Amino acid sequence: MGWRDMIFGPGAGDAKAPKIDTSGVKIHPSVDGGVRAGAKSFTGGVLKCKCPSDKVEVTVSAQTAHNHICGCTKCWKPKGAPFSMVAVVSRDKVKVTAH
Ligand SMILES: [Zn+2]
Repeated sequence: MGWRDMIFGPGAGDAKAPKIDTSGVKIHPSVDGGVRAGAKSFTGGVLKCKCPSDKVEVTVSAQTAHNHICGCTKCWKPKGAPFSMVAVVSRDKVKVTAH
């Protein structure tokens, strides 16, 4: 039994099985409308928390290596999203630059 069978039911991983339409599956607003390729010229940016003052600022100075999807109970998720999405970069390219 493959991973498709475990997620979508027995036979889903069989090449002869009918194709399963997952277009209605919602996991995160960033990808629910389809995955878009990132810009090759992207070199990072500055992230700020949503606190009203003394915002924590994190500077990322690299292209994302890949994204990680997590369904644990600790990661922050947008309202209604069952998964968080985390961009992965090497540790030396991430710095807390304020607060
Ligand atoms: Zn998590």
